[in-house]
Amino acid sequence: MIRTSSVEQTAVFARVLAAHVQAGDVILLTGNLGAGKTTLTQMIGKELNVRGRITSPTFVIAREHEAVSDGPGLVHVDAYRLEDAMELDDLDLDAELDDMVTIIEWGRGKAEQLSDSYLDIFIDRPEPDPESEARTYTLSAHGPRWEGRIEQLTTACQEAL
Ligand code: ADP
Ligand code: MG
Repeated sequence: MIRTSSVEQTAVFARVLAAHVQAGDVILLTGNLGAGKTTLTQMIGKELNVRGRITSPTFVIAREHEAVSDGPGLVHVDAYRLEDAMELDDLDLDAELDDMVTIIEWGRGKAEQLSDSYLDIFIDRPEPDPESEARTYTLSAHGPRWEGRIEQLTTACQEAL
């Protein structure tokens, strides 16, 4: 588990995470409203240097942000309103999946089937104080794409934070 105690520290986590992702990766972000799913996605998008403002994609379910320079772009999905995995399959993200990093808010239970591999991140707020910037990130990697890489990522996070 990774702990951050401020927005600035979460930005450091996002920087380390962005340095370890590659085109074709799928990241599922789960955690209550206000946990920081969109904020983390914005921070990763900034590190990947993608075009366009990353906002809560509540009305648009999926939004594509191309990379300004070399490196993968970002597909940002909000699965909150989707009933099940089948509805996500209907979005036909397959074409983008290989060239982009795909981040799916509320992805748990709905997006595991998109790829043979995914990184599941559960975000929690450990402090009851609503003003607290403390967050915990529980990472679990699934599938061959993350084999070996998850240890590197975890070590890099521990070193940076
Ligand atoms: P979600 O998408 O999970 O509903 P948002 O990212 O929209 O959450 O909102 C998170 C809110 O919490 C933002 O207002 C953000 O400024 C605030 N916040 C406070 N501390 C942190 C932190 N460490 N990481 C991310 N967001 C934080
Ligand atoms: Mg959100």
